[in-house]
Amino acid sequence: MTSAPAYDPQNIFGKILRGELPCVKVFEDDVALAFMDIFPRVDGHTLVVPKIPARGLLDFPASALGPFMERVQRVAAAVKSGMKADGLTIQQFNESAGGQMVFHLHFHILPRHEGAPLMPPGVAGANAEIETYADKIRRAFA
Ligand code: 5GP
Repeated sequence: MTSAPAYDPQNIFGKILRGELPCVKVFEDDVALAFMDIFPRVDGHTLVVPKIPARGLLDFPASALGPFMERVQRVAAAVKSGMKADGLTIQQFNESAGGQMVFHLHFHILPRHEGAPLMPPGVAGANAEIETYADKIRRAFA
């Protein structure tokens, strides 16, 4: 077993959080930012990122998990409702061996429709479509 490297603030989501890179935002408060994945595995694929810097679940402060998971739940509800989904797949990967590619803690929220498979990885979504789904999700926040 190897120990995880330290958090690197130059990761893509760190840059998005600091406003150095753009994103299609659907939710933001003092705890979390949620935005659309640009390589969606399903229409409406949304990412939820905490503002506290952490590589993954294991180096995130336990005392901050409650408030952050409350945001994950709130975004998940808006994604399900906005995308009129039948269900949700929620994923969280840790380290390369666990499938993680961006080393700032995040949860994937994937709205699922009965019988519809995931799309292949690594295929960029069309910007206009991503904006349309983001709009539906934003309108679903009460
Ligand atoms: P991981 O495997 O680390 O859990 O997933 C990282 C996710 O970030 C992938 O689903 C990937 O499509 C997404 N991603 C990578 N680069 C960018 C980017 O620049 N902007 C956005 N919005 N998503 C990204």
